[in-house]
Amino acid sequence: MALAENHDLTHVPRSVTILGSTGSVGCSTVDLLRRDPDAYDVEALTAFSNVALLAKQARELRARMAVIGDPALYGALRDALAGTNIAVAAGPEALIEAAARPSDWVMAAIVGAAGLAPTLAAARRGAILAIANKECLVTAGPVFRAEMERGGATLLPVDSEHNAIFQVFDFNQPETVDRLILTASGGPFLDADAETLACVTPAQAIAHPNWSMGAKISVDSATMMNKGLELIEASYIFDMPAERIEVLIHPQSVVHSLVAYVDGSVLAQLGTPDMRTPIAYALGWPRRIPAPAPRLDLAALGQLTFQAPDLKRFPALTLAREALQSGGAAPTLLNAANEVAVHAFLSGQISFLDIVRVVENVLVHAPRGAMRALDDVLAVDAEARERAQAFIVEL
Ligand code: NAD
Ligand code: MG
Repeated sequence: MALAENHDLTHVPRSVTILGSTGSVGCSTVDLLRRDPDAYDVEALTAFSNVALLAKQARELRARMAVIGDPALYGALRDALAGTNIAVAAGPEALIEAAARPSDWVMAAIVGAAGLAPTLAAARRGAILAIANKECLVTAGPVFRAEMERGGATLLPVDSEHNAIFQVFDFNQPETVDRLILTASGGPFLDADAETLACVTPAQAIAHPNWSMGAKISVDSATMMNKGLELIEASYIFDMPAERIEVLIHPQSVVHSLVAYVDGSVLAQLGTPDMRTPIAYALGWPRRIPAPAPRLDLAALGQLTFQAPDLKRFPALTLAREALQSGGAAPTLLNAANEVAVHAFLSGQISFLDIVRVVENVLVHAPRGAMRALDDVLAVDAEARERAQAFIVEL
């Protein structure tokens, strides 16, 4: 999976592009770049609507290009960067162009399937691709992998669980891996009963106990759909069937995930819950670079706890596992329906428990057949979004 020979790793400064630089992962990446400015040369930064932050980042990091996803904001970005020689563009096509510009390393940190086209553009030109945007893998896994291989790209997982597995996975003897164990904090409602879950508000759902993240992934963590998406993500990245990937609740978020080997050994990566550690791992790869995450003090923590997930209260996990096992269009449907449902929940249209109902309803109508090309993925994604919207109106 990690192909050092495909890339010029001696290149200093390393040229980097951040897709989604104004988000939670994007800002953590910018923070690392800022701490060692001579080591990086910023090619492009992109955002959807936060013109002020994008312009500030672009000026500070002396980016060559800044792109805003919302075309209506072109003028605002141009004005904000007036007097600099930073190229400015706007709209979905410009996001793809930014990703396609030559750079050694790309952080894919757009949220949702909206990140698919730009991330694919970076994959096709053979970049070192640090992927936080799990939805683009879930929605297009096999197509995405084929494009990456054709382009000579290298995937470095940034999602903390997958980054942990990547760090302890023996790529020289993959046949000796017995199981992957994904840890999950369980989110803010780990111990909540069914009545409490029925009344969850968006503000409660996005208040994650351990991690500070964007709204969408925070809601996904609360429903545990996040772990379902990660199950699919892990299967695609590490070529592992659903049956050999377990989910383990670990409320402290210190053991980021584990790999169990055929000899009974279990290797894990640990650290404080700070995304700058997995981002730094990907940014420096194949070398380790310093990251400012708080140091882990196990003696102060005293104990780490683990338990099995409650699949009754968190049915999203089962839905995702079944979608992975069904294959074909099912993961694409699951992802699209979930994106629509989370958006509807955050805007007050549906209840917390309705999120999974929407996903379940869309999955029931899964079309058959393989997903061979990007167009198949986009067609199924669009159909699933329509179906989800129609179901939401009926709720
Ligand atoms: P966020 O909402 O904080 O940021 C999302 C970024 O994407 C922003 O820069 C936004 O401008 C951009 N964006 C949103 N919609 C867009 C669109 N339609 N077109 C172009 N750009 C768009 O999200 P985040 O928490 O940083 O998460 C980003 C991705 O990383 C998600 O896929 C998430 O699942 C994954 N991830 C996040 C964390 C975390 O700690 N935040 C951890 C693991 C994985
Ligand atoms: Mg994760």
